[in-house]
Amino acid sequence: MRKILFVISVIMGLYSCSSVPITGRQQLSLVSDQEVLSLSLQQYGDYIKTAKKSTDKTATALVVKVGQKIAGAVEAYFKATGQEALIAGYQWEFNLIDDSQVNAFCMPGGKIVVYTGILPYTKDETGLAVVLGHEVGHAIAKHANERMSQQMIVQGVGTGVGALLSKGSSTLQTIGSTVYGLGTELGVMLPFNRKQELEADRLGLVLMAIAGYDPNAAIPFWERMSQQGGSNMELLSTHPSDATRIAEIRKEIPEAMEYYNSIWGKGATTNPAQNGKTSNDWHF
Ligand SMILES: [Zn+2]
Repeated sequence: MRKILFVISVIMGLYSCSSVPITGRQQLSLVSDQEVLSLSLQQYGDYIKTAKKSTDKTATALVVKVGQKIAGAVEAYFKATGQEALIAGYQWEFNLIDDSQVNAFCMPGGKIVVYTGILPYTKDETGLAVVLGHEVGHAIAKHANERMSQQMIVQGVGTGVGALLSKGSSTLQTIGSTVYGLGTELGVMLPFNRKQELEADRLGLVLMAIAGYDPNAAIPFWERMSQQGGSNMELLSTHPSDATRIAEIRKEIPEAMEYYNSIWGKGATTNPAQNGKTSNDWHF
């Protein structure tokens, strides 16, 4: 492992490195957005063809509504900070799938899937915003690119990274499928690492705040989730212990509240987004 980490650090020096929006963390980036988006769209297309869409119109409408607000927050943030290029090629889509798993995900490119099994835990619109903020957080932090890049390094040791980087490489395709895992029967994404999970939590709080949802709602949501126990779902994939996760979220809420207060006004109650404010009112 130590050797691999050393190789990664050398490669990071040689190849490109990018930084995560909002958190500013430097990350390994060996795979282009174009490559990731193309793999992602292909796998999403295969998945969604066979997935069973929920017939619950009210719940589906809520997923679309919250999804659109979180997507709106992403677009407003990237526009206001001059980083639109980072989400170029996104085609947002919001689905509620009839599946008892307590799960949700957002693929690179903005394809959002929520399983009906998570709705008893999200409970309401703001709870759903916690989940979608987190999932979209993974997407805008390009955690899939990062994980693919790390996989490439691991597999590239001894075989030469250059070969893996060549366009149309079958190894890249294989890595892509292991990264998303959507081609498998599991129908879920493979785990992100713990650091990425906590980062997605932080990004999720900021995104929900920009969208007009009170980020404090993340605490009761994660408390409800912790009561449902262990699971292989994406949201609990690397098992940051519930107590650690909630403690981290508590520390990060003030940052999200700064966005919330500056956009929606101090003391604003939940969902001021419904009260006629538009993205034109947003500044960062
Ligand atoms: Zn996650």
